Amino acid sequence: MDRQQEFVLRTLEERDIRFVRLWFTDVLGTLKSVSVAPAELESAFEEGIGIDGSAIEGFARVSESDMVAMPDPTTFQVFPFEGGASGESARMFCDILLPDGSAAWADPRHVLRRMLAKAAEKGFTFYTHPEVEFFLVQDGPLDGSVPVPVDGGGYFDHTTHSVARDFRRQAVLALERIGISVEFSHHEVAPGQQEIDLRYADALTTADNIMTFRHVVKEVALSQGVRATFMPKPYTDQPGSGMHTHLSLFEGERNAFHDGDDPLKLSKTARAFIAGLLVHAREYTAVTNQWVNSYKRLFPMQLPDRITESPAFVSWGALNRSALVRVPAFGKPNSARVEVRSLDSATNPYLAFAVMLGAGLKGIEEGYELPPGAEDDVWSMSPAERKAAGYDALPENLAEAIDVMAKSELIPEVLGEHVFDFFLRNKRQEWEQYRREVTPYERQRYLGAL
Ligand code: GLN
Ligand code: MG
Ligand code: MG
Ligand code: MG
Repeated sequence: MDRQQEFVLRTLEERDIRFVRLWFTDVLGTLKSVSVAPAELESAFEEGIGIDGSAIEGFARVSESDMVAMPDPTTFQVFPFEGGASGESARMFCDILLPDGSAAWADPRHVLRRMLAKAAEKGFTFYTHPEVEFFLVQDGPLDGSVPVPVDGGGYFDHTTHSVARDFRRQAVLALERIGISVEFSHHEVAPGQQEIDLRYADALTTADNIMTFRHVVKEVALSQGVRATFMPKPYTDQPGSGMHTHLSLFEGERNAFHDGDDPLKLSKTARAFIAGLLVHAREYTAVTNQWVNSYKRLFPMQLPDRITESPAFVSWGALNRSALVRVPAFGKPNSARVEVRSLDSATNPYLAFAVMLGAGLKGIEEGYELPPGAEDDVWSMSPAERKAAGYDALPENLAEAIDVMAKSELIPEVLGEHVFDFFLRNKRQEWEQYRREVTPYERQRYLGAL
């Protein structure tokens, strides 16, 4: 047994913790959990816990369904606030293995680990930092009716004694207590909409943190009698919930995106990485924006006092909030980074980070040239102007996103053939279900008029 494993067992004993939750994630980004008693953990560290992979979305065909969840002791965390009678509980993320001990190809953590190893071969560590947006609603109706937001606040509003402010305080405290550092939190543009930004960390830790974040935020909301939703676009006339993600590569202690001599202080590595993100953007959108509903967010919408800021075209720019990839102003060399603005809060973070890293590394490997940045507001250009500037449109709906992804050479390489095939099959089914649905919009518009 190694020192980390011993530390876990000792902590459980000292703090008299009765339940340890073992967590993993399916291909669609749903968190899965199995609880074990501390007494079982010693053998779980040696042999793992057997699970039926065929019951997990995307994991296995029935004939090869035996899998093993192997707890990763470096992710051990005590949850001081949800232990029920015994006071505390704890959790660990797992890697999923096949019975012969090799990694299960369908485990999203493994997909990301494989890309991180590829980056490491080139001397790079990949860091990410997400800005997670979500809605707080009073109720969570499941019959399709419109949920009531908890407040009528707006961007950066300071609302005294509001549910949202107390909620953010409680959520941030809870996250900090389990070792997830929060940089900022504020009210977002729409009524009930919140944003919490996590501090940057290596991409595997960040992806684990996002899974934990979603769980904690939902629990804190429930404890306050409201609900949190990461649905990308709950309201027709309000902005959706994006998960802007800042990316950087480090070589040891040095930020490989920084070059003090460049006008934008961006290195050649950073420029080639951005070029990769742009060239392959249409191919990975099905992963970063994986639901039918995701595409209701991905275009600009005029609100009374502003325009919503979700990207619809493949472009980049310094400080340009209409671009897909933005280069934020940064002070210290080690803060050099790029922000991808298409992701939404309901993506599978492991797969999303893997495809973006794959695209960026491809740009570096192939020496892609970065086209000039967009200085104009890409939204207000005419289609002809955008065509001349070379700004392709992102896929307009899930069907188009799947079609583009299906033709990609890069994405099956990054995801592995199994996840790639499963994902396409699953998403085609989702689209088919949606396609046959007659919506309230159609009845309102056509029933009387036609
Ligand atoms: N909610 C916007 C989006 O959908 C982002 C708004 C912002 O943070 N500037 O991406
Ligand atoms: Mg923000
Ligand atoms: Mg925001
Ligand atoms: Mg942002």
